[in-house]
Amino acid sequence: MKNMYNFVKNTHKNISWITIIDSWKPGENIWLIAITHWNEPVWLKIFEYLVNEFKINEKLKWWKIYLIANNIEAYIKYSKSEDKNKFRFIDDNMNRVSNKKFKNWSYEHKRFYELKQIFDEIDFVIDIHSVSKWNDLIWISDTKYKDKAEKFFDVETILIDEIWNTWSIIWEFIRKWKEAYWIECWNHVDDIWFKNWVINILNFLVYYWFINWRIDKKHDNIKIFEFIEEIKVKTDNFKFISDFINFTKIWENEIFAIDEYNELKHNLWTDIYLWIIAKNPKKWDWAWFLFRKLK
Ligand SMILES: [Zn+2]
Repeated sequence: MKNMYNFVKNTHKNISWITIIDSWKPGENIWLIAITHWNEPVWLKIFEYLVNEFKINEKLKWWKIYLIANNIEAYIKYSKSEDKNKFRFIDDNMNRVSNKKFKNWSYEHKRFYELKQIFDEIDFVIDIHSVSKWNDLIWISDTKYKDKAEKFFDVETILIDEIWNTWSIIWEFIRKWKEAYWIECWNHVDDIWFKNWVINILNFLVYYWFINWRIDKKHDNIKIFEFIEEIKVKTDNFKFISDFINFTKIWENEIFAIDEYNELKHNLWTDIYLWIIAKNPKKWDWAWFLFRKLK
């Protein structure tokens, strides 16, 4: 918790939790946003690495990098909580509010609209998340940036989607023709894979000439999955049939979860892959996704 306060003091236009690394040369700005969900502490490790170890402020060639902690109330609650996976947000999923009517009692709604005031200053966005299941690092890209994503992301898997469907934070940028991605890091608190996450963020900065470095790429055969469906948990009595790891192929009419009395299966004609982001998803939260494998 102590280190977090390196970032707490910084504000931008009276908006809290924004640290700006400025090269003092004009141009495009990149926004690294993080901690949309409270149980995803990788943001802090990445911010700290960039600022304290990598010394990004000395290496930045031009433009600005904004380091933004989105949902800090949730993170503070997470830090004090005994059950680290209990909730993902205070009262609404900030990554699904952009199409919703403004709720003035909701922390996430207020924070989202506060940040929205500075969206125009931003040209590129990476939204950093993590998951509670085993996974290599995964990038999520809008369909229109798929070819680009393959050039600089060193990952096993890229997920593509029509991001406008998701009402996520990055959708706000994509609809204005700005480039935005979403990254899902391996298990929330893992040190071994931390380097991989960082390499990918540095690769992105190199590709767009923010820093003089080299693109580090070990994966040649990137698997690409296309999003098909996202499903919500409807009851408190929800259970996956087995401990699905990574992307699991499921057959037509194969039951993969039970939501009280409802057996979940797909009846699509094609091969479908299931990907779970939360081991014990909560009622009314998005918890798993169905994909089609493109490559
Ligand atoms: Zn998340």
